[in-house]
Amino acid sequence: QKDFERRFNIPHITDIFPDAISIPSTFCLKMRTPVSEDFAGGYPSDEEWHGYINNNDRVLLKVINYTSPTSAGAVCIDPDCTWVEQWVHRAGPREKIYFRPEEVKAAILTCGGLCPGLNDVIRQIVVTLEIYGVKKIVGIPFGYRGFSDKELTEMPLSRKVVQNIHLSGGSLLGVSRGGPPISEIVDSMEERGINMLFVLGGNGTHAGANAIHNECRKRQMRVAVVGVPKTIDNDILLMDKTFGFDTAVEEAQRAINSAYIEAHSAYHGVGIVKLMGRSSGFIAMHASLASGQVDICLIPEVHFNLHGPHGILRHLKYLIETKGSAVICVAEGAGQDFLQKTNAKDASGNTVLGDIGVHIQQEIKKKFKGIGIPVDVKYIDPTYMIRCGRANASDGILCTVLGQNAVHGAFAGYSGITVGICNTHYVYLPIPEVISYPRLVDPNSRMWHRCLTSTGQPDFI
Ligand code: ATP
Ligand code: MG
Repeated sequence: QKDFERRFNIPHITDIFPDAISIPSTFCLKMRTPVSEDFAGGYPSDEEWHGYINNNDRVLLKVINYTSPTSAGAVCIDPDCTWVEQWVHRAGPREKIYFRPEEVKAAILTCGGLCPGLNDVIRQIVVTLEIYGVKKIVGIPFGYRGFSDKELTEMPLSRKVVQNIHLSGGSLLGVSRGGPPISEIVDSMEERGINMLFVLGGNGTHAGANAIHNECRKRQMRVAVVGVPKTIDNDILLMDKTFGFDTAVEEAQRAINSAYIEAHSAYHGVGIVKLMGRSSGFIAMHASLASGQVDICLIPEVHFNLHGPHGILRHLKYLIETKGSAVICVAEGAGQDFLQKTNAKDASGNTVLGDIGVHIQQEIKKKFKGIGIPVDVKYIDPTYMIRCGRANASDGILCTVLGQNAVHGAFAGYSGITVGICNTHYVYLPIPEVISYPRLVDPNSRMWHRCLTSTGQPDFI
């Protein structure tokens, strides 16, 4: 008996244009017809079989059945229930589409920081649009800024242009922070005749995309705005993972390994590696788990003390005395309360973080000098090297599916949506659901405890 069921609904063009006309899809699915004997009874005939996704096909996002709400990792929307079901829209090509390909002008932009896989997604969007028969595809340079800056001109895109862009990192279109007000962006879209907009970006970019979608609806524009979540930190709600995360963890291990070798080869060596993770420590946690070379993993979600009987420095002394060296992996957003607040903001309004890696390095040097034990501290910050890299194979595949599904979603008439992988299936989600707050590492989760088991670190409080 389930206690709670939730169905996520996504905006569709027929919500504002109830008589919007659909046409048969121009995206040809080359599905093999099933061998009917194998499916006696329930299978559709060869004529009925097409393999398109139905608009009301759903994916079961989460089923939680626990005997006690206090068991590790148990999360529940309603604290009184023990059984939850959440249903989301299944992504993929539809049999009926709401845009005539010859009338489409599609635009793509990338915004925020770099993340491995941006070019892979751009490439797939372009390739899939062409398969639908779209001729007018453009890139908006440098994110939302490209809509207002008169110096920046649209970049025409085609399969030929994007053929090899996934072989290098970064973004073909360039990225930026900040940008014009939403009304100006929508004015510019109207002027340019853009009726499909694909935005690749993080929480901020998605907030912008949702505002653009709402503004377009207010103006009764027949436009599809579709997001592809770009967050190397893997901090988007509901999703199994976001593209670039796998690559980041893999690259982060290299930095950890270097720190380990440096620390291990020095007399009383301490290696510190700072990784991405402004509010969520997924990269630090996964890289620590994967490398097996980290003694202390610090993430924003878990408070720690540097000094005192249970502080990091005391544990470090123990490690130096017993192992001779130590490796610390710290997420950039961890321990921000130790650093002087500057109130500095970037162009998008994000708080500029202090450098926790440098702070820990200085505190270690001070402490060990004070107690007369020599230490050799090396600090590695590989963050920009990781963000600029090319996507690995698993992220490359994820980007491919997300890019294709973004185009299928737009043609299906959805807008104000984003694409993702949830519970191993590809889905469409309403943007506001995934950006209300960042997904965090649950300090009571089994994964965090596996990490602590692996590092052997105590609680630093
Ligand atoms: P990253 O994960 O790299 O920070 P992001 O998409 O969050 O990616 P931001 O720099 O925060 O990057 O924002 C990108 C763009 O989104 C900027 O152009 C910014 O102006 C716009 N933006 C941010 N927040 C909002 C918001 N609440 N409403 C509308 N637009 C926004
Ligand atoms: Mg952001």
